[in-house]
Amino acid sequence: DFVANVSHELRTPLTAVIGFIETIKGAAKDDKAARNRFIDLMLSEALRMDRLVGDLLALSRVEATARMRPNEMVNITNVLKSSLSSLRHVIEKSGVTVTFKPADNLPAIPGDEDQLRQIFNNMIENAVKYGGAGKAVEITVTDPARDAQLRGDVLRVSVQDHGKGIAAHHLPRLTERFYRVDTHRSREMGGTGLGLAIVKHILSRHRGRLEINSALDVGTEVIAVLPTE
Ligand code: ADP
Repeated sequence: DFVANVSHELRTPLTAVIGFIETIKGAAKDDKAARNRFIDLMLSEALRMDRLVGDLLALSRVEATARMRPNEMVNITNVLKSSLSSLRHVIEKSGVTVTFKPADNLPAIPGDEDQLRQIFNNMIENAVKYGGAGKAVEITVTDPARDAQLRGDVLRVSVQDHGKGIAAHHLPRLTERFYRVDTHRSREMGGTGLGLAIVKHILSRHRGRLEINSALDVGTEVIAVLPTE
């Protein structure tokens, strides 16, 4: 199934690129304006393939480390700050206001810093993409508190948006590879359908878990629950 899905996801932009090249060589050969337009479209399809391959590689790297416990001690506040700074341009372009008030004295937790940054990038990028221009996104981290399910103390990193929300029946499937609520919108926003699958894998390597709460027309809260030891 996975190979079939990947092939399909790659073939769609590839077919588009082939079509554009044929048009540039044929019908649009002497039409400079049309040629430029097709070249822009080819670039955007090629970038889509590049993002897809990037996410596939990220997924396979996470799978390769799945059985190794992360052994760095990581300051979550710093990772969130660096994640926000790497997304600065995306956030500025989106017209979404992102707020993050770092808490004092959070303990460092065992983790893989690059992978945690990737989780936060995906969570924040989704909130910005699906939250909608002009809306707010709030990032919060709770103080360590006991989690009954994980039987230990955890930090909860929450990313809340005020977008269209997700109907309840989709929630259990969101972390499946290539599962999208609205395929057209995801593609339009440059999504690969792999972001939350990567998030779930990384959290499970960290012995944490993902929670998603959403209400239609109210918004979505995505929470990474991370053990403190
Ligand atoms: P994508 O690359 O399509 O964004 P993800 O795996 O990150 O893939 O998310 C899967 C799907 O979940 C998205 O296509 C979108 O339909 C839905 N989704 C994720 N985050 C949100 C959100 N904050 N608000 C609304 N829908 C969301």
